[in-house]
Amino acid sequence: MEKIRCLIVGGGPAGYTAAIYAARANLSPVLYEGIQPGGQLTTTTDIENFPGFGEGIGGQALMDAMRFQAERLGADLRHGTVTDADLSSRPFRLTVDAGTQILAETLIIATGATARYLGLESEEKFKGMGVSACATCDGFFYRNRKVAVVGGGDTACEEAAYLSNICEKVYMIVRRDVLRASQAMQKKVLETPNIEILWNCNTQEVLGDLSGVTGARLRRKDGEVFDIAVDGFFLAIGHHPNSEVFSKWVDTDSNGYIMTDGKSSRTNVEGVFAAGDVQDPSYRQAVTAAASGCVAALDAERFLNS
Ligand code: NDP
Repeated sequence: MEKIRCLIVGGGPAGYTAAIYAARANLSPVLYEGIQPGGQLTTTTDIENFPGFGEGIGGQALMDAMRFQAERLGADLRHGTVTDADLSSRPFRLTVDAGTQILAETLIIATGATARYLGLESEEKFKGMGVSACATCDGFFYRNRKVAVVGGGDTACEEAAYLSNICEKVYMIVRRDVLRASQAMQKKVLETPNIEILWNCNTQEVLGDLSGVTGARLRRKDGEVFDIAVDGFFLAIGHHPNSEVFSKWVDTDSNGYIMTDGKSSRTNVEGVFAAGDVQDPSYRQAVTAAASGCVAALDAERFLNS
């Protein structure tokens, strides 16, 4: 069975940065990229707040650059998803794609977070046929049409602002009478003429036919039920951390985020470290994820050398 000194799970900014540092520390890192190499950033357009790119950089381009850097420095990047883990003793035993078994002396979990859905049957039915959790991936298909974005956080506001440049009209479906988003993003959506906020509304059903989504049935807090006509229905109601495979062994908070020790990346299992969105309910930025990947690789190096 293959034995790996430093196994990194997850191909986002945290995982690639961990791989860069671990490779330079001669830890011979192996990184499994999971189902979405590049992670969530590959689904965004321009990133203006990653330091070093004065003109901004595309999400895919940034991730391609990180990936290239990790590989150039000697990290072994592999397609595949870790589907099972036995962290009861070292070396840890991991299963890849429900088949291959590998052993790892240290493990860095950088599996990120995944978009949440409302959980409606009709939403599931129209996934990929008008229902999407990524405006920047799918907004293009709704050029000059009407769409809805569910949520009132920064993501929802960003997605609504993005869609307002492409679509004729954007409804924001907000369940309270306030937005959770930062003041700057609130201002932006409130000042955009083709964004209409539907306050105090919850979605009862996504409406559609064989062609895909045709609308949504909403219920306002006062009890009024009404329909809106839209071709695209975008979810932006937060994310859940991809910690399930490991949560039998590592401590998580009530929302599933892996708990780490102080400013370190150490989990409760010696030799297991966590980096990026899977352990960060608060900041969730590309740059913070990358930084925590660095921390995890340094922690793994120190652990192996102690
Ligand atoms: P948030 O958790 O901040 O917001 C989620 C939104 O979805 C809230 O408005 C919430 O409503 C709403 N919501 C949750 N569940 C439901 C539901 N079942 N039905 C209807 N509405 C629901 O998530 P975000 O993804 O927006 O942001 C995550 C983090 O990332 C935040 O810290 C944010 O600031 C940050 N971020 C920063 C950006 C930037 O700096 N450029 C860009 C994007 C995100 P309620 O308010 O009522 O709970």
